[in-house]
This record gives sequence, C-alpha cells and structure tokens, in this order.
Amino acid sequence: MESLYNFTSYELREKLFKKKVSSEEVVKSIYERIEEKEEKIKAFLYLCKKEEVLEKARRVDKKIALGEEVGKLAGIPVGIKDNMCVKGIPATGGSKILKNFIPPYNATVIEKLLQEDVIIMGKLNCDEFAMGSSNENSACYPVRNPWDLNRVPGGSSGGSAASVAASEVILSLGSDTGGSIRLPASFCGIVGIKPTYGRVSRYGLIAFASSLDQIGPLSKDVRDGALMLEVISGYDRRDSTSVNMEVPPYLSLLEEDVKGLKVGIPEELTGDGIDEDIRKRLSEAVVLFEKLGVICETVSLPTLSYALPVYYIISSSEASSNLARFDGVRYGYRDFTGEDIFSMYKKTRGKGFGPEVKRRIMLGTYALSAGYYDACYLKAQKVRTLLKRDFERVFKDFDALLSPVAPTTAFLIGEKIKDPLKMYLTDICTIPVNLAGLPSISVPAGLIKGLPVGLQITGRIFEESTILRLAYSFEQNSGYHTVSVKYSRQKPEESNY
Ligand code: GLN
Repeated sequence: MESLYNFTSYELREKLFKKKVSSEEVVKSIYERIEEKEEKIKAFLYLCKKEEVLEKARRVDKKIALGEEVGKLAGIPVGIKDNMCVKGIPATGGSKILKNFIPPYNATVIEKLLQEDVIIMGKLNCDEFAMGSSNENSACYPVRNPWDLNRVPGGSSGGSAASVAASEVILSLGSDTGGSIRLPASFCGIVGIKPTYGRVSRYGLIAFASSLDQIGPLSKDVRDGALMLEVISGYDRRDSTSVNMEVPPYLSLLEEDVKGLKVGIPEELTGDGIDEDIRKRLSEAVVLFEKLGVICETVSLPTLSYALPVYYIISSSEASSNLARFDGVRYGYRDFTGEDIFSMYKKTRGKGFGPEVKRRIMLGTYALSAGYYDACYLKAQKVRTLLKRDFERVFKDFDALLSPVAPTTAFLIGEKIKDPLKMYLTDICTIPVNLAGLPSISVPAGLIKGLPVGLQITGRIFEESTILRLAYSFEQNSGYHTVSVKYSRQKPEESNY
C-alpha cells in the first residue's frame, strides 16, 4: 500500500472524511518520514513535538467521528516558512538576530489555516529575511534539494519546497518577494503560487519588501495549491494593502475549458540567457497548449530588461527601512558586551545579520539617502510604473503569459554564493511579476537531466483562476506532476539519500 505521506491533501481529505484513515495515522506517517529524511534535507528550523501534533490530530479525528463540522484541510500536516508568526513557537526568519523570538500572536494566514483544522508540523528553513535564491543565506544551514542533495532547492522558500517534494509535509506556505515561491517550486518539481499583491494578508509576515511580499502555497499538484489558496485568501483589516474583493471558488473553477484563451510568450524571457533545454521545454508546453485550443503568440515587453535593477533598488530600500526595527531592544538577539547603547545597537546588528542582509541594508540606505533618492529610488519607482503599464498593455490582448521560471535547473550548492550578481540573475523571469503585483504560478514541466523544471504562468491582477485553470489543464494533459511526484516518491529512496 502507498504510504500516507505520499498523497495530496485532496486525496487525504477524501480518505479522512470517509473514515478510511485517521489524521493520527497521517501525522504519524509524516512524522516518521521527517525523522527518516530530515537529517539530509534540513528543511526544518523548528519541528513541533511528536506527542503535541498527534494529540491535535486525535482531536480532529474525534470531531470527524462525532460527525461535527470540520475544516477544508482538517487533519492535514502542513509546514510554515519561518518568516511567518505562529503563536508560541519560534520565528527566526532564518536570521540569528531573531534567535529566541517567540511571537505572541498568529499571522492571519495561520489563523485561516487553523480555522480549517490543519496540523502545523513546524517552521521551515529559508534564506535570512527571505533574501536569496538558493537558501544558502539561512543563518542556520542550507536546505538540500531532495532530487540531488548536492544541489540547492532554490530560495528563499527552500525549506517550504524541499519539505513538500520530499513528502515531509503535505502542503506548505512560502513567501514570494521576487520569486521565492516559484523558483524553489521549479527546482524541486512541485507547484508554487504567488497570488496577486493584496489577495493574501501579510499581517504576521516578517517584512522584507512590503510593496512586493506575498504569501502563497506550495503543493504537489495544482488542485492542492488551489485548495490552499482558497483557504488563505481574503480581506484582512489588519493589512492596509489587503484588497476587499470576493475570493472565487478556485477549486471548482479548475476544470473549466481553456480553449480559446490567449497566451503570450514574452520574447525577452526566452533569449540567450536562458538554457537551451529550458527553452525547449517551453516550446513543448506551447505545442501542448495549442493542442488544447489555447492561442499562443510571441509578445514583447521591452521594459522587462530594467526589472532586475529596479527590483534591487526598491526591495533593498524597503528592506533597509523594515529591518531598522531589529536593534537588540525589541526582538530576539542582543549583544550586551558594549559600553553604551550605541555600541549595543552596532554589535547586535553587526553580529545578528548575515552578509547578504547587510549588503541589502547598505544598498537600500544608499538609495534612500539625501542626494541619491531622486536618482535611485524615485527613478526606480518611475520605471516600475512603466513596467506595470507594459504588462497592462499586453493583458489587453492576452489572458496570460507563459515563460520559464528560471534560466537553469537547480544549481550546485556553492556555485553562485560568492557572486551576488550571478545569484540575482536567477530571478530574471520571476521578479517583473512582483513589481507589477501580478498572480503567477510555477507548474512542473518535466525533467532535464534528471532535474525538475517549472513553467511560469502569469495572469492579470486578481485573475488567479485563469492561471490555475491553465496550469491544471497543462498538468492533467502532460502528466508531469505524476512524473514528478512518482520520481520524488521513488528515486530519492534509491539514490543518494
Ligand atoms: N531572490 C530574490 C531576492 O533575494 C527574491 C527573494 C524573495 O522572493 N523573497 O531578493
């Protein structure tokens, strides 16, 4: 019989409701899986105690047995990226400066998940303050890619992706500021969704760049992603950028026909910087979509070439401001060894932040400083507007855009960490989407030399259902999610695990 940890939440939900399995059995199976794999994968920064999670599972089982109403994700084990607040358990954001910080409240997304009776298994490893593309910037240890332990899982939500791919959890939450959900989803062969800016509340998310950050699901297939997105979406008065718009029933819209939809392929994202094999995968995807009656055409968005510099100015500016609060007084780590308060600040921040975070703070502070503000920050904001307009123009004629998620498949640990610019280029396809606030999904598009590769589908604002439909039909007709899931179920067991 198939192990319980290998199922999707949708499949498990059916089994749980029909009382074919209990949540206790599911959680037990997941816990044993974690005990078996975690030593190599390193996806967790905090694992909840076995007896605690089993007790929670038993409570869900009891509710089901008594015929009480239970939530949409009742009894399903999930993992949470460590930059979100879960009451009573540590939230470090992958940083030393937040060591020992235990939030006294839940993020809104956590409240929403708990309302649906999920079982939270623990907190997942990530790049420090979500800054990175490989998870090597975690202050604790890098996460390893379950498909090849010598490779990165992608970042910054590397723990969120690796844990789902290795079946250490059924679903997870990540955050995406410039690609941090889609990139690791692509590298680990799973589905990752970055919702429209404002769709999901950021209350309780440790801020990196507030005008770009969004929380979203990582899952084994599109259906599971749609289910989780439905649960976490919606207006929240505690987030001033949350948008008060009805949340469509994503799950029931998945199967609507995609015939007649018009999809554009931005030529700027299929050029020389993208690996030949990745471009081939994209062309194959186009052929499949055309077979399904989708109209595919090449489009041009000339401003895309400015996205990377614009992103690094804006995100670093916002980060430098957001991270000012970590001063040794209010949260976590403090260095007591100095003589006065100023040396306490200096030493705390000097020792508490890692090199990448310091780089961004310096860059951001510079861009915001008098004399450089107009030339850097203001200019970047203007170009951001042009980029947004470019997307708006294209979306007048097209329902979605199709592109690679990244220029390569998962690279080796250590390959890019010494060269920040090389690392930044990894996000060339994902970053423009955040600057324009659009919804976007990474869906498995097969393997290249044994490593997974994702396809990025981006939509108009608040049209998550269109990209979900496209991703779902791609997945169902290509079968890549089963290749991916099967492979992640079997291969790692035999190979270098
Ligand atoms: N890799 C990008 C960065 O380091 C994006 C990170 C993210 O999406 N959180 O800024």
